[in-house]
Amino acid sequence: MTTTDALLPCPFCNGEAHIGTVTYSRPLEDVTWDDGSPVLKTYYGHCAVCAVGHRNGIAGGYPTEQAAIAAWNRRTGQAYADALLEALEAVTDDLEAEIEARRGTVLARTTERDLASVKAARAAIAAVKGGKP
Ligand SMILES: [Zn+2]
Repeated sequence: MTTTDALLPCPFCNGEAHIGTVTYSRPLEDVTWDDGSPVLKTYYGHCAVCAVGHRNGIAGGYPTEQAAIAAWNRRTGQAYADALLEALEAVTDDLEAEIEARRGTVLARTTERDLASVKAARAAIAAVKGGKP
């Protein structure tokens, strides 16, 4: 079984991700899911390119495909990246406002040079945002 719907690419190589399954012929001994149900089948995310997999606990996976997708897609670094981009945008906005506020009090070429830097910063931020899955 392979499912790529809603799966983020591999966090290590950006390869295509899939959901794999393991089916047991009888329930695992001494192991149940959190709700007490027997472990007969598990789901886990893995990369088709570098083969990294996201297994979980003794059962080796998750009780549902949806749980495996959610686990595979969980990226703690993304929240930091989003916060950093937001901060960079705010600094860029403030810088542009200051450049515009001093317009006419400095050489025109200085204003244009500084606005070119703001434009480059905005382009870099947009490129990073565009690269998000
Ligand atoms: Zn990979």
